[in-house]
Amino acid sequence: MTRHPLGVHASIAGGIEKAFPRAEQIGCTALQIFTRNASRWQSKPLDPVKVAAFREAMLKSPITQVFVHDSYLINLATPDDDKWQKSKAAFGDELRRCSQLGVQGLVMHPGAHLDTGEETGLQRIAAAFKEILAEAPENVQILLETTAGMGSHLGWRFEQLARIIDLVPQHDFGICFDTCHVFAAGYDFSTAEGYSAVMAEFEHIVGCEKIRLFHINDSKKPCGSRVDLHEHAGLGQIGASGFACLMRDHRFTAVAKILETPQGDEHEYDLRNLALLRQLAGETT
Ligand SMILES: [Zn+2]
Ligand SMILES: [Zn+2]
Repeated sequence: MTRHPLGVHASIAGGIEKAFPRAEQIGCTALQIFTRNASRWQSKPLDPVKVAAFREAMLKSPITQVFVHDSYLINLATPDDDKWQKSKAAFGDELRRCSQLGVQGLVMHPGAHLDTGEETGLQRIAAAFKEILAEAPENVQILLETTAGMGSHLGWRFEQLARIIDLVPQHDFGICFDTCHVFAAGYDFSTAEGYSAVMAEFEHIVGCEKIRLFHINDSKKPCGSRVDLHEHAGLGQIGASGFACLMRDHRFTAVAKILETPQGDEHEYDLRNLALLRQLAGETT
């Protein structure tokens, strides 16, 4: 039986390679990490010894897919030139780190236009990517994450993701589909009919083959609220029925699915959530 690549966002406390045993002990087959402090601009280069330890751990691990999430400070849509320069430099650094580590892809939030308007923001993101990609390693895929559309954040409508992809043809972007974000943004896939309609719309506008990763979070807030508040899978407004549709969709069996919810004491919540997803997928745990 095909096992879905399933996992969590794991801590790198004590060394980047330490994420592997942490995730393996709860049965993960996929993993997401930060490679630097996600709320600081500055970061030390990766230690080559740690990079070697990371690659060694990855080679031996039952975890088959590893993704990096970028720093929350990065905003490629910002109208502020100083922040834009810093964002481009930091994102270039994120790509180089991913290349060193040999991971599958780098997940990023497209950016917030800060009241300059949707199209101006999308153009700003595209201009930033063009500069960054001119100097970046080519072996790392950038995954644009769907957002909830809080404030002026872009990427909450499927058309915005398609627009970025169109504006930057020099890169083969992937998509990270965050279930909480997409639902909060106004796409209701909590029922079988809703799921079919939302995925058909995504297929038409972006293309389902672009989805390289799912963030499996339920939503505390209703559909269309545009508020990003994660709930444990099945316990929020999406509910188990929405996740069942996703876990049984054969188009996405090989696509990694990562939890971004609190792990709980002794990984109590992670274990429960991973077991639920495997059960919904029809896998025995
Ligand atoms: Zn996410
Ligand atoms: Zn979120």
